[in-house]
Amino acid sequence: MSNTCIFCKIVAGAIPAKKIYEDDLVLAFHDIQPQAPVHALVIPKRHLVCLDDLGTEDRDMAGHLLERTAHVARELGVSQNGYRTLINTRQHGGQEVDHLHIHILGGKPIGPMVCR
Ligand code: AMP
Ligand code: ZN
Repeated sequence: MSNTCIFCKIVAGAIPAKKIYEDDLVLAFHDIQPQAPVHALVIPKRHLVCLDDLGTEDRDMAGHLLERTAHVARELGVSQNGYRTLINTRQHGGQEVDHLHIHILGGKPIGPMVCR
């Protein structure tokens, strides 16, 4: 847990979020500034800064995080038509919150993978 991390504060219940799914390892909630009709974030409860922070000890959790992301997408009703999952890493990846998170974007065609 990081005392300054906004997502750790959501995990701790110190700031509110519209939660979708929670278990002992991961939490999913709606993005506060949705970029699509459905925009959710799925995070590990443990504070990991970004994908590059994952170690071999995190393999089980990372597999669980990915499987639960698909579960959350099904719960949100976007699985049949499809959705975009996105992990931004550090500055060039456009990461703004330094706690690993997977974006789920759906509810409309999300368009090209990167700006052209
Ligand atoms: P990224 O650019 O990949 O780091 O994405 C961070 C995401 O976190 C953005 O889409 C923000 O809108 C979202 N976000 C920031 N603060 C909150 C919050 N308190 N609750 C929900 N989503 C948030
Ligand atoms: Zn954190």
